[in-house]
Amino acid sequence: MDLESSKTIKEYLHQANRVVITSHIRPDGDAVGAVLGLGTALQEAGKQVQVVLADGIPAVFRHFPGSKLVSRKVQGDYDLAVVLDCSDLQRSGGVLGDRKPEINIDHHVTNLEFGIVNLVEPEAAATCEILGEFLPRWGFTISQPAAALLLAGIVTDTIGFRTSNTRPHTLRCAADLMELGASLSEVYYHNLLRQSYEAAGLWGKGLTRLQRQDRLVYTSLSLEDKQQIGYNGNDDADLINLLSTIDDADIAIIFVELNGGIVKVSWRAQPGFDVSRIAVKFGGGGHLAAAGAQIPGTLEEVTRIVLETTAGMASEGLLNNEPDHE
Ligand code: 5GP
Ligand code: MN
Repeated sequence: MDLESSKTIKEYLHQANRVVITSHIRPDGDAVGAVLGLGTALQEAGKQVQVVLADGIPAVFRHFPGSKLVSRKVQGDYDLAVVLDCSDLQRSGGVLGDRKPEINIDHHVTNLEFGIVNLVEPEAAATCEILGEFLPRWGFTISQPAAALLLAGIVTDTIGFRTSNTRPHTLRCAADLMELGASLSEVYYHNLLRQSYEAAGLWGKGLTRLQRQDRLVYTSLSLEDKQQIGYNGNDDADLINLLSTIDDADIAIIFVELNGGIVKVSWRAQPGFDVSRIAVKFGGGGHLAAAGAQIPGTLEEVTRIVLETTAGMASEGLLNNEPDHE
């Protein structure tokens, strides 16, 4: 743990009056839980807080407490910028303009340490786990809504404590958040156990197109699929998590067509592999077991080059990772 960074962050947070908190585009549960969790704690400590996400808040997270706090653009002056769960600054979607953020808190192994002070803990299962541990140490109270937000981030990023980066500390942190009033069963129910009808329809589209090549399984979702189904999100409706349960495969990949000739690629790997290395090659990032990138091109082009590269790196052993180092 980086004690020096932690001390500096504490000072920054206490001295600031007007704080902007942001995270990555296409925000997931950890990103939304982290920005709203920290935002709530700082607001309750009397700070003026703007929670800004370039893509706004996806419909699936609108039940999060305080979700109405989120805007898409910074308004007016501020004296502290905090970026959470975001491995490179570009991925924040430009909400801070040219400003170098004072604080960067993240758990991605691929983090570029772009802040004035960086607290990057790749062994943490979620950015919300880092905040759950540090907020009390920095002298901030975690109220019941903030606890529920942080627990939602941990539960979604670990898919219910089942990813290989879930550690005893993660569970202790979750237990602390429950003691602060967060309901694990409610967080589970709303975030992992319920799907919209349209999401299930989209899974159907992807599953009928599922393919296997040696130890890889993959599928794709086109803009036309989403339109036919009436699915409004610009994500894969978490279909990749379903693909990653398929036995006999080391790596699962999904290709999701986005507007503007870009394809979002998500990789998921079994323990012993590191797919963040491929994602970085394509300008993306992530974790050993879960990584992504946005790649220009058509679905066909991106599928071909990504399959070729992934299969090539896998066969040369370039994706192997000692389980001890996860
Ligand atoms: P997902 O595939 O679910 O979008 O993301 C898996 C992991 O990779 C997440 O931790 C996410 O933050 C990271 N990730 C996904 N896409 C990108 C990207 O385009 N750039 C970077 N740096 N990280 C990404
Ligand atoms: Mn995360």
